[in-house]
Amino acid sequence: MKDRLYYTDPYIQTFEANVIYQGSEEDGTPYIVLDRTAFYPTGGGQPCDTGTLNGIEVIQVEEVDSTVRHRLSRPFPPGTTTAAGSIDWQRRFDHMQQHAGQHILSAAFAELFDAQTVGFHLGRERVTIDLAVEEVTEEMAVQAVELANRIVFENRPIIARFVDPVELARLPLRKPPAVTENIRIVTIEGFDYNPCGGTHPKQTGEIGPIQILDWERMKGNVRVAFICGGRTARELWHKHRVLKQLGRLLSSSEAELPDAVARLQLERKETERALQEANQKLLEAEARERMREAETIGGLRLAAVALAERPLPDMQKLAQRMVALDPTAIALLVSSGPKTQLVFARGEAVSLPMNELLREALPLIDGKGGGNPAMAQGGGTGGPSPEDLLTQIKESLLTRITP
Ligand SMILES: [Zn+2]
Repeated sequence: MKDRLYYTDPYIQTFEANVIYQGSEEDGTPYIVLDRTAFYPTGGGQPCDTGTLNGIEVIQVEEVDSTVRHRLSRPFPPGTTTAAGSIDWQRRFDHMQQHAGQHILSAAFAELFDAQTVGFHLGRERVTIDLAVEEVTEEMAVQAVELANRIVFENRPIIARFVDPVELARLPLRKPPAVTENIRIVTIEGFDYNPCGGTHPKQTGEIGPIQILDWERMKGNVRVAFICGGRTARELWHKHRVLKQLGRLLSSSEAELPDAVARLQLERKETERALQEANQKLLEAEARERMREAETIGGLRLAAVALAERPLPDMQKLAQRMVALDPTAIALLVSSGPKTQLVFARGEAVSLPMNELLREALPLIDGKGGGNPAMAQGGGTGGPSPEDLLTQIKESLLTRITP
């Protein structure tokens, strides 16, 4: 394992190596194998390093059949025998912080609540562990974070080394190693012993503050999302800016924000209720006005109204109010706009079926619709102006009431 420079010194950022093999993957991506490397290949929940080899971009690093393939953005010039490597340190150090932070948080949950970690994922924004427990409470999360950060701030040494089976048998491991040879144990002094092939800083202090963000039940376990170090600092800044903006918008201090938002929601509900009441009054007034303008024909009060772009539910309400005011009323409403809409309604004393009247009118606007004898509605796209339409509808109505 001496060819894996990151095992013995995870702080190596640049290195020289000999080219052993150049090849290309099935999709044509060129790759290179070196006699030694500081590039960490994807594995154990930790994403790979990126960087450059002889100035060529290393886009992905994977272990295939015990060799490390450095996948490149373009192939090396033919005959290249040596490579100067440089890894993206910002990315690697972030991975070291998140990965070592995971060791500590997992150990904290195990020590405090016997909650064993059965899954780990180091994502671009968040890190998650899956705990084999029924639930995680807020109190548990607070305690685990407190213990984890205490271990961080005590700046304990983190030691990674290969051990033989005799020594391995004596160590208080939380989980058995996944491999049977070349077993590497990562020790956080006096706190945790864990078989691991990843990269970790030398001291826990370098991990920086650990913070849990969220947790949720997931396939019989609880998935806990958290961040460490630089991510925690960036998240704090981001959240602080959002809170400051909200505070300005609501003229409220940070601590009073939840109350301010609750007050706003209550006010909005009250405003909505008041608006609804006002709309109902308006509709009532409009219905009276429309009925005052109605004509009396054959003992019926006929109100034929042309409206401009009124929503259908609004038209239906208006028609209902109009016929409620007078049992002998017939309301014929036509609304123009992108769509022509019709609503017909009758008062209780009228026997003329509105759905039949609608059926006759719909072909005039190339429309569709339906309803019952008391009320019918439909819409279409073609047809004459609302005024002409009403004239034609009234004519067909008149043939029915004046034989
Ligand atoms: Zn590890």
